[in-house]
Amino acid sequence: MISTFVNTRTLQNVTNRIPAFLFRSKTTQATALNDEPTDSENGDLPVEMENPYKKERQLCILCKLNIEPDYKNVRLLSQFQSRYTGRIYGKHITGLCEHKQKRVEQEINKAQHAGLMGYMTKNVTYLEDPKLFNPNFPFRPHKWC
Ligand SMILES: [Zn+2]
Repeated sequence: MISTFVNTRTLQNVTNRIPAFLFRSKTTQATALNDEPTDSENGDLPVEMENPYKKERQLCILCKLNIEPDYKNVRLLSQFQSRYTGRIYGKHITGLCEHKQKRVEQEINKAQHAGLMGYMTKNVTYLEDPKLFNPNFPFRPHKWC
């Protein structure tokens, strides 16, 4: 009887010396997992943010204003025509996207065939219209100019 008493007493002493956090029951383990710091608490984790180097999408003037070129709208089409030679400006000068530039050229040809626009002249009443671009300073350099 005495020996067992001593044994339990020494065991109690030993358990008192060992720190309490080394003993984990199943319930304390579950709570310990839940106590892990979340993303908001831990400042070392990467933060979700928008790409700062993302380029803004460039739209041409006709796409931006949602204008569809039409052969009856001669005033608009003549803005893409040279006042000196009647030449249709290239897309490096007009700054239009490929689709709209093709549509403008098609509609100018259609208007010229219909007799609404001149081939080598620009209507005098449209000469004072605001210029959408400067042909001397094209949007993009071109190998021919
Ligand atoms: Zn466009």
